[in-house]
Amino acid sequence: MTTPYADREVWFLTGSQHLYGPEVLDQVAAQSQEIARALDAADAVPAPVVWKPVLADSTTIRRVMLEANADDRVLGVVTWMHTFSPSKMWIAGLDALRKPLLHLHTQANVELPWATIDFDFMNLNQAAHGDREHGYVHARMNTTRTTVAGHVSDPSVLARVGTWVRGAAGWAALHELRLARFGDNMRDVAVTEGDKTEAEIRFGISTNTWAVNELAAAVDAAADADVDVLVREYETDYDVEPQLRRGGERHESLRYAARQELGLLAKLESLGAKAFTTSFEDLGGLRQLPGLAVQRLMARGYGFGAEGDWKTAALVRAAKVMGEGLPGGASLMEDYTYDLTPGDELVLGAHMLEVCPSLTTSTPRIEVHPLGIGGREDPVRMVFQADPGPGVVVSLADVRDRFRLTANVVDLVDARGELPHLPVARAVWKPRPDFTTSAESWLLAGGAHHTVLSTAAGLDAFRVLARIARVELLTIEDGTTVDRFERELQWNQAYYRLAGGL
Ligand code: MN
Repeated sequence: MTTPYADREVWFLTGSQHLYGPEVLDQVAAQSQEIARALDAADAVPAPVVWKPVLADSTTIRRVMLEANADDRVLGVVTWMHTFSPSKMWIAGLDALRKPLLHLHTQANVELPWATIDFDFMNLNQAAHGDREHGYVHARMNTTRTTVAGHVSDPSVLARVGTWVRGAAGWAALHELRLARFGDNMRDVAVTEGDKTEAEIRFGISTNTWAVNELAAAVDAAADADVDVLVREYETDYDVEPQLRRGGERHESLRYAARQELGLLAKLESLGAKAFTTSFEDLGGLRQLPGLAVQRLMARGYGFGAEGDWKTAALVRAAKVMGEGLPGGASLMEDYTYDLTPGDELVLGAHMLEVCPSLTTSTPRIEVHPLGIGGREDPVRMVFQADPGPGVVVSLADVRDRFRLTANVVDLVDARGELPHLPVARAVWKPRPDFTTSAESWLLAGGAHHTVLSTAAGLDAFRVLARIARVELLTIEDGTTVDRFERELQWNQAYYRLAGGL
């Protein structure tokens, strides 16, 4: 899959007015180009930042917004009022804009030239109040925006702009997402259900189901020569257990896993799908529940949800795009079991098979073991432990009148030992702020048991994404208390119903 930022752009829009004369506007143009260049050159900002000519009238502003809407490369626009740009001239443009917006409150200089400052300088460098005028009209119009204040030489400003670009890219990825479901949701499970039409209205996610036997046919159609090549790749890139290697007594299981990978990839590519789900209750002509194949596709950037969980599949895809190029990764995850040692409580997260190896820098081991459910041949899977470090788990639930994201900041840690008998990939983490607050808040929120665990994109990227989508995001992090969290749930219940209209 090509990198999600390769053919993308962010447009840098500078506001001014004609009051100051052409000389000042030339200076505004030159200085705003420098700001745009600084953003464009920053490693923290993953997409190119393209400067646009200075905007000083309503017609031009509206036109550039319409152009941004129409251009699929544009992830969003950054606005900055270098001088004073009377904001009524922005109303038509902001009303037309359908792309994410970042209001960058900055200025050309860091220090004031105290000894030489005159009124010409004051007129040129008046973002301090020009951006206040801009902020007013946003507030008045209740636009969806992210606001960042500070000089672009400050790494934390660049980081925050970069996080906004990542959130906007996640938004674009969801709008472009075709999600293929092979089989329905696991029978009787509640939280994996949801309103697919509302998901397309709210996030742009197109979710549809294909017969699992169409997938099985694609798997059966994989060419033996391609299977040979892929098996050799497994043997080179991973620690393949001897019985699965060429010449081993269970090598055929590995070949079938490779066949599944090729079939899944072919089917998803033919559908233009970047995310998918499977169901162990509906395997049709598949001989194994896809394990290794799903892990490999997640590592390539595909979103995945097990048991028909299309909402988590979409979240995994968004996390993949938002975290692209950062250390760490993203995977389907499930809070599985706890170590409740007082004061040192840990969550052991895993799934039946499908944990993405982007969570580890170690070499995964490929093994085959029986699976108690599904009633098929023993599935092949990668086994590893996720790297220690910071992360976030995020779930997406349909709470009937809206979608709710629930996020918990976590610290991944090493397992307390080797776990020689656990035949699946896993992650071990300490939830913030502590186990009790985390678990009680999550349960009060009705957060799902399936999550995306992201160690690349952090909570702030999800915050941007939720803001752009105008979707509720509950966060459990340092400073959270159960009492306040419960009250926030109550306030949100009222707020989102009022904000959603009747
Ligand atoms: Mn599950």
